[in-house]
Amino acid sequence: MKQISRRAVVLLLLALLVVCGSLLYVVRYVEHGQDWAAAYARENAGASGAIIDRKGLVLAAFSPSESQFQPDRELRIANFHVTGDYYGRTGTGLLTGYQDFSLLTGSSFSENAVLYLNVDAELNRKAFQVLDGRPGAVLIMNYRSGELLCMVSSPSIDPLEADPQPQEGAYINRCLSACFVPGSVFKLITAAAAIEGIPDLSERRFVCEGSVEIAGVTIKCSGYHGEQTFEQALSNSCNVAFSQLSVELGHPAMLRAVRRFGFLESQRLDGIPSAAGSFPLENPGDPELGWAGVGQSTDLLCPYSLLRFVAAVANDGELAEPRLIRDGSLGFSSRLMRADTAKELQRLMHYNVVNGYGEDRFPGLRLCAKTGTAERGDGSSNAWFVGFLADEEHPYAFVIMIERGGSGLGAAGTAANEILQYAVNR
Ligand SMILES: [Zn+2]
Repeated sequence: MKQISRRAVVLLLLALLVVCGSLLYVVRYVEHGQDWAAAYARENAGASGAIIDRKGLVLAAFSPSESQFQPDRELRIANFHVTGDYYGRTGTGLLTGYQDFSLLTGSSFSENAVLYLNVDAELNRKAFQVLDGRPGAVLIMNYRSGELLCMVSSPSIDPLEADPQPQEGAYINRCLSACFVPGSVFKLITAAAAIEGIPDLSERRFVCEGSVEIAGVTIKCSGYHGEQTFEQALSNSCNVAFSQLSVELGHPAMLRAVRRFGFLESQRLDGIPSAAGSFPLENPGDPELGWAGVGQSTDLLCPYSLLRFVAAVANDGELAEPRLIRDGSLGFSSRLMRADTAKELQRLMHYNVVNGYGEDRFPGLRLCAKTGTAERGDGSSNAWFVGFLADEEHPYAFVIMIERGGSGLGAAGTAANEILQYAVNR
């Protein structure tokens, strides 16, 4: 009897799984198919389609008999990971999306559609030039409206070349489809958890003598920072302070923060999935939790997830979900963190620039930011610079990552200044 009822329970569970799976499929289809359907609704006369940037530049156009690209080669290469190509060589390209959606709806690739983008193709070109052949990712969005203005991944290819000799990893969109060791940009997440979890944080003092012992394991700092307040510790990017905070908060609170901000899940950019990040899921013990709190250990983050995070910080905790496609509708908006947490992070990130990095490096920009120099296993470092402009005329959030780029401030910070200066003067 027991045997039978157990079997019945198992069968019931299986049936439930099937039902849930089908429901999930329908929900996803309804949720994301719409993005493409909206674009399809814009039918033109004649059997043709096009991808047009926010300034009216035609990036790609096709008809049943012909497929064309923007004639400017550099512009094509800089925008390859946005447009994709007619061969489907990059998974995130919109031309690939057209085809996928055609498969779902049964409509043909040649059916009429014009996609208007929020992306500024010339800004992409600028970002690509600034990366100057170094592997990396640049993302810029309007954190008030959700418009994604810039998405560049390097290296890239010319989508017109049928048989290019690509640099390694040129087909991968580093903004969306890859994760990287975050290093000190992760301290923003630890800081958010600390702001909410440690009531007397602003009265605390953190003493750094160049390293700290946690359960017999030495965690080294990049400097000798002496006695610091919390804001000074963030501006110094002090490993001693932040590894201790991570251990004090404990594994459940740290994991909860990482999860709540969406770092462990695949996010969607108009239906295009991003890579899910990682953080120790089980308590790895205090020393390793210390390292995880400063963005090392097994931490990996997708640049796109970081963009969502800094955009939410900039927008008082409310995330205007990024939109690649401009279809007249407002993006989805959701609360990623408490407003007071976001405002405190805004203040701290501005303090970083004024007291740590130097405003002179970023003339005229009201910048709030955090650097990261993330050690990889091979002795090189990923250079990160993430943040936003506290500027209502140019409410831009950004993420810049240069793989093996060296110093966060020196390499990625300098690149950020050049790209943002161009963006605000467009
Ligand atoms: Zn330190």
